[in-house]
Amino acid sequence: MDDLFNYENNSIFTNRNVLSPHYIPQSLPFREEEVKALASTVAPALHNQRPKNVFIYGKTGTGKTSVARFVMEKFNKQAKNAMMFYINARIYNSRYRILHKILKHFYPELEKLGFGLPVFYEKLLALLNKSFFLVVVLDEIDMIRDLDDLIYTFTRINDEVEGPGGLSIVGISNKLSFKNSLDPRSKSSLYEKEFIFPPYSAEQIYAILKDRVKLGLKPERVEDSALQLISLISARETGDARYALKLLESAAEVADDRNSNLTHKEVEIARRKVELDLNAEILSTLPENHKIALFAVIRLTEKGGKYAKIFGEDQQLLTTGEVYEEYTQLCERLGRRPRSMRWFKEYLNDLETLGFLVLSLSGKGMRGHTTFIKLGVELENIKPLFEDWDN
Ligand code: ADP
Ligand code: MG
Repeated sequence: MDDLFNYENNSIFTNRNVLSPHYIPQSLPFREEEVKALASTVAPALHNQRPKNVFIYGKTGTGKTSVARFVMEKFNKQAKNAMMFYINARIYNSRYRILHKILKHFYPELEKLGFGLPVFYEKLLALLNKSFFLVVVLDEIDMIRDLDDLIYTFTRINDEVEGPGGLSIVGISNKLSFKNSLDPRSKSSLYEKEFIFPPYSAEQIYAILKDRVKLGLKPERVEDSALQLISLISARETGDARYALKLLESAAEVADDRNSNLTHKEVEIARRKVELDLNAEILSTLPENHKIALFAVIRLTEKGGKYAKIFGEDQQLLTTGEVYEEYTQLCERLGRRPRSMRWFKEYLNDLETLGFLVLSLSGKGMRGHTTFIKLGVELENIKPLFEDWDN
């Protein structure tokens, strides 16, 4: 019975941690320039000068968070009267929460809730007045609801600091359009410097994966062509290293389940799972009306809309009118009050932004413009997530 608990030995994993999104590698190949650029941007804080604010833009999985954390770790080891402070704005998404998060680190007595902004302001000013340099990393900065107010507060506090101390911002985002939603004053303040991270190529992703395989898997059980496949898929999508690592981890799990090596087959199976997972993640954040609207599109795509009936199965365009009708019927079945067409169109636009739908405007037809709707994801990658809706 000795081999009853022998699971680890058979597993393709040797260290699962290194495949997790939270793992920061010892080195960041293909981002050496970016690391240097950020490091020299914040370097003045180690020499009693306020660094310029900087904005980092790049698509998901291009290494923005990793580079920021990498530089931060090294910076904080050297710093005496300075600190880089990381904020995930997905969680701390308002001026109040961010100031509270920062200040309770320096003044534990502020841990309790209930202090007002003026208290935070005074404390922060007091901290900076001790010739202290704070570099706040605002990751996913576009999630901050009152960002203009936050930047205003930071700018004002810098004006009031006496002596050499001060505060700088490293803003990070994957939303290009976000810049235009800012107040012009915040914009010029935040964009004193700007770095753009390009997507990774297939070769670069391949090299990144190869390194991780050595650290986290049994390399002899991973076929090289499977790694190449993952790299190609990820590069074609968005040059996204996070997706690539997720696919690698998931394919390794499949290999474990099947007690096989990691080959093309495992990648194909894993890919379906990863797509579903990613969609499930986004879906879980959607309000109910959006979900019902999306489900209406799914049902009609399956049944075939009126164009499919006229022009054949492969014609999957749906009209706004027929989807709205399906939506109202679904609402009634679910015991919900359907919202008006005006709202419904908002839902469609949101669903398009999230990639679930593709909307296209028809040319001028007999009855003016019509918006055509099509699923933006494979039916098989979304339908199973509505399993319990379908009766
Ligand atoms: P972003 O913040 O731009 O979405 P991340 O920094 O979170 O991207 O990177 C996504 C994943 O890819 C992380 O798991 C990270 O470890 C890995 N990664 C990104 N760039 C590199 C790189 N140059 N070398 C090694 N791993 C990388
Ligand atoms: Mg990130």
